[in-house]
Amino acid sequence: MLHIEHLTVAVDGKTILQDINLHIAPGEVHVLLGPNGTGKSTLISTIMGFERYKVLEGKIIFKGQDITTAPCYERAKLGIGVMIQRPPTIRGLSLRKMVEICGATPKETESMAKWMGMSDFLDRSVNEGFSGGELKRSELLQLMAQKPELLLLDEPESGVDIENIALVGRAANYILQHTDCRKGDCQKPCCGNNTECEDNNPLKESGHSGLIITHLGHILKYVPSSHAHILYNGTLTCQSGDPLHVLQCIAQSGYERCVRETCRGG
Ligand code: ADP
Ligand code: MG
Ligand code: MG
Repeated sequence: MLHIEHLTVAVDGKTILQDINLHIAPGEVHVLLGPNGTGKSTLISTIMGFERYKVLEGKIIFKGQDITTAPCYERAKLGIGVMIQRPPTIRGLSLRKMVEICGATPKETESMAKWMGMSDFLDRSVNEGFSGGELKRSELLQLMAQKPELLLLDEPESGVDIENIALVGRAANYILQHTDCRKGDCQKPCCGNNTECEDNNPLKESGHSGLIITHLGHILKYVPSSHAHILYNGTLTCQSGDPLHVLQCIAQSGYERCVRETCRGG
């Protein structure tokens, strides 16, 4: 699905990421961990192709295609979707119109908005005056319409209350499963936790992949993940098979010690 090879990235002339290698297979969800300011958002923004992020070295391959220099909208069309940390307000464009632009029919828009508790927001400007939880739900609603094959989530649970985290988690899982609203599955989005998913992991079938930045890992209760990476000093230094194990290690020992003692090279 995604192959990142020897990627070095600069923002406004400052090198932020050094020699990043990352491989995400179809159906895999990877977790990106690391202290503040280490370049996690930079990595996601570079994968999405935001102009500000300059690739100095290396390449990004998506579904076998070299997208290193492709513009952002091409990447979206190819199937990459992102939820950034601080989504912008788009005054004058209704959320309804936006969700339809993202690919949903008017009927799907109504039904998905209902599921996300966003019905009352459809005729407001995109993200205008939305609270933390509402912002994330609005972004996820747009992503549900877009149906990306690779879902990038930047701290989806930050600024979100417990109830909304469940909704955000279920929506993310729904996007990864690619359950089709038109089959009437909207009311039955997904399993509630990893254990329930194990027997019949829908991610394997959809082939959709994810890369999720999280500090506390709440979202992982709703989205089964298989790999964890720690971004430390601008480099991916850790790759582990169990994100929950790595999170536990970080909580107990801190990033530095965890990188040194627990992780093998990324
Ligand atoms: P994280 O998401 O891991 O908290 P970021 O990717 O947001 O980290 O930022 C990584 C580093 O890049 C930080 O030191 C940040 O200040 C710096 N940075 C981000 N954007 C810019 C910019 N436009 N100009 C200069 N430095 C930037
Ligand atoms: Mg941060
Ligand atoms: Mg960030």
